[in-house]
Amino acid sequence: MTLNEMTSSSMFLCRSSSDLPAHHRGRMEDEGFSLPLSQDTFQDLWENVAAPSIVTIPTTSLENEQWHQELLMNYPELPFNEELFNLPSEMASKDSANLSTPTVPVTTDYPGEYGFELRFQKSGTAKSVTSTYSEILNKLYCQLAKTSLVEVLLIKKPPAGAVLRATAIYKKIEHVADVVRRCPHHQNEDSAAHRSHLIRMEGSQRAQYFEDPHTKRQSVTVPYEPPQLGSEFTTILLSFMCNSSCMGGMNRRPILTILTLETQEGVVLGRRCFEVRVCACPGRDRKTEEANSTNMQNGTKETKKRKSVPPPAAAAAAKKSKTASSAEEDDKELFTLQIRGRKRYEMLKKINDGLELLENKPKCKAAAKPECPVPPRGKRLLHRGEKSDSD
Ligand SMILES: [Zn+2]
Repeated sequence: MTLNEMTSSSMFLCRSSSDLPAHHRGRMEDEGFSLPLSQDTFQDLWENVAAPSIVTIPTTSLENEQWHQELLMNYPELPFNEELFNLPSEMASKDSANLSTPTVPVTTDYPGEYGFELRFQKSGTAKSVTSTYSEILNKLYCQLAKTSLVEVLLIKKPPAGAVLRATAIYKKIEHVADVVRRCPHHQNEDSAAHRSHLIRMEGSQRAQYFEDPHTKRQSVTVPYEPPQLGSEFTTILLSFMCNSSCMGGMNRRPILTILTLETQEGVVLGRRCFEVRVCACPGRDRKTEEANSTNMQNGTKETKKRKSVPPPAAAAAAKKSKTASSAEEDDKELFTLQIRGRKRYEMLKKINDGLELLENKPKCKAAAKPECPVPPRGKRLLHRGEKSDSD
């Protein structure tokens, strides 16, 4: 496609085809909308694809064994290595440990068989609040280095040695590859060994800070403690050690916190994810963002409503202008109106003249005719006998 043709098709997108010059219309119908067929039909392609029958893929260990034998019989030249199919248990557990730190961590909620769930304190949106959670937005708002209480609920006891892990990632796709760390300023102020970590788990001497050797993503774990007598949940204490706005750190990029319940070996048993904003006024920001989201939702509802149930007049108008060409024809049709009294006639004529003028305006602009009656932008059309303001 040449640049010229591209320009004409983009014109097609914003204008109806009847607006285009005839030669453009013809070319697009010929080239743009009936692509020449490639050599084969899809049917031909489908029939040429040789796929193994699904029945040959083993599903049980016995079938698996038979499949190996068949494989050996069919391909005797292949050096068959039993080890390939029987991973040593040590290696398998190492592999599953890696599952907890993939290149891009998963952010979908997964309660799993232990019914892993989180609950946040209902702190409201008062000005003094240091940490507050929005159910509407699934978002935690907290102040820098202030503790947020997160309640962990399980429906049954996890395996001994289970841990809770917190990892932060950037929410937007364009930032997700970057590792979330504290900004240089806040790191330099701190002497702790884990000073580069954004998320801290407070109140436990057994908190462990990790950095994945491959992805460099940082996380912190605490051993899962069963709820104390008379309680149905365990509380963990999270704090975030940079503001969302910190230059050289999060730099206003929104983040998500992923909390996972894992076995000692790192196998994920459950996952919960929520957005976090670390700011000076958590209460105010939560209020504002919740209001914005409600307004947006109402806005879409109203437009939907308007679209689905148009008032009778609008429906009639919509019927009238079914296609651009028929609407144009309607506009060209002439009507005669009988008006009683000269004064009223003059008034209605003025309105009609005005409408005519408005309608001619864009056409004149496009054609740039010198005899165009429309004055340049910002200037008023002067009538005979009238004086201009500058006179
Ligand atoms: Zn910072």
